[in-house]
Amino acid sequence: MKLLLALLLLVQSPCSLFAVQSSTPPNIILIYMDDLGYGDLGCFGSTKNRTPNLDRMAAEGIRFTDFYVTSGVCTPSRASLMTGCYPRRVNLHVDENDKWVLFPAARKGLNPKETTIAEILKTAGYATTCIGKWHLGDHPDFLPTRHGFDSYFGIPYSNDMGRKNIPLPLMRDEEVIEAPVKQAPLTRRYTDEAISFITKNKERPFFLYLPHTCVHLPLFPGEGFQGKSANGKYGDWIEEVDAATGELLKTLKDLKLEKNTLVIFTSDNGSNGRNGGSNAPLKGTKGSTHEGGMRVPCLMRWPGTIPPGAICSQLASTLDFLPTLTALAGGALPQERKIDGLNITDLVLAKEGAQTPRSSLFYYHTTQLQAVRSGKWKLVLPHDVRFDGWSGKKEDSPLELYDLSTDPSENSNVAAKYPAVVEQLRKLAHEARKDLGDGPQKGTGQRPAGWVDQASPRLLR
Ligand code: MG
Repeated sequence: MKLLLALLLLVQSPCSLFAVQSSTPPNIILIYMDDLGYGDLGCFGSTKNRTPNLDRMAAEGIRFTDFYVTSGVCTPSRASLMTGCYPRRVNLHVDENDKWVLFPAARKGLNPKETTIAEILKTAGYATTCIGKWHLGDHPDFLPTRHGFDSYFGIPYSNDMGRKNIPLPLMRDEEVIEAPVKQAPLTRRYTDEAISFITKNKERPFFLYLPHTCVHLPLFPGEGFQGKSANGKYGDWIEEVDAATGELLKTLKDLKLEKNTLVIFTSDNGSNGRNGGSNAPLKGTKGSTHEGGMRVPCLMRWPGTIPPGAICSQLASTLDFLPTLTALAGGALPQERKIDGLNITDLVLAKEGAQTPRSSLFYYHTTQLQAVRSGKWKLVLPHDVRFDGWSGKKEDSPLELYDLSTDPSENSNVAAKYPAVVEQLRKLAHEARKDLGDGPQKGTGQRPAGWVDQASPRLLR
């Protein structure tokens, strides 16, 4: 009997495995906000911004409370999302002039040799598109269409980066189609493009990457939302994206795709704390390695697979999207290079007792390793330059230890009380320094960014 069972399993396993992988890879929608703070959604405590659709996403899916990006600013954070690697590993922690992010007509960008999440999903049979702000290089060599996306519609960098000789462009694939683009209609246009992409690809697995321009300054809420919120233009724009997300969820329902679509909603970094944004109850803002700069709201919804109303307080990061989505899609990870992301499928599916595989998270600001988290502990390392958020004010930075489980606002330095914990986290930081570098010290595991001799001829006039 046992032999018969074993034989049956041997015969059936490859087929059933194949059946699972080939018939049910989920569609993936990844909505990525620009500078949305930890406290900006109703389901994360906002009493100013009305976000009923996103609150419903949280009620019907999972809400991550301890979810991180790898940088307090756009380009490095996005590099990690796309590659599953720390910004210093792929050398997008600073631009060609050591500035925080890439600027128009940059000669630097995401290396075409890196493997992106879009390339993996495309190889696994997905239709792929990027709709929104890219910010990983505006030269054709660095655009989404060269990084695994079948198509692209959006702005190549931040919405405050229009220049006299390079007005803010709207691009389709690799061409500038409008410049300067009118910003207020952008969220509406992104949403229309997204609905059209979903509808067109309803019969096959698809990956929709939707990095909104919202809520990066300057603020441009669309028609029908201006002057409606209790939080000025900032609230207006968030409420517009909330409504747009509701439209996407309705599209999935109408097309009967809900049960086979994972929808993720998160942000590239914290709010700058001006013009209505909030990182409450966290300290600091965009641009800092305080929690408010790098801990962001994260929601996931996949009816029938993720249980409703789940909350995950385990450590997780945008680094983990690449390996996790690869596993869910039945794709293959690149074998020849180091990836910092880890497969957090068990957390995403809210499996009982699931523990994060992530034993550390490193907080870099441009070139500097400024802090490390492991479990509930965060060690802030002494360093030369520390910005207390967007004010640009430099602070002294003594060694600090925080217990984030009881002190998420980083108010009470307990370094003197827990020397063994300090030592343990220092060791982790030391390993990161060797691998990824710190300040002028290079890491052994860094790889080159992409470079071109000439800035993009398509953008310059
Ligand atoms: Mg940003």
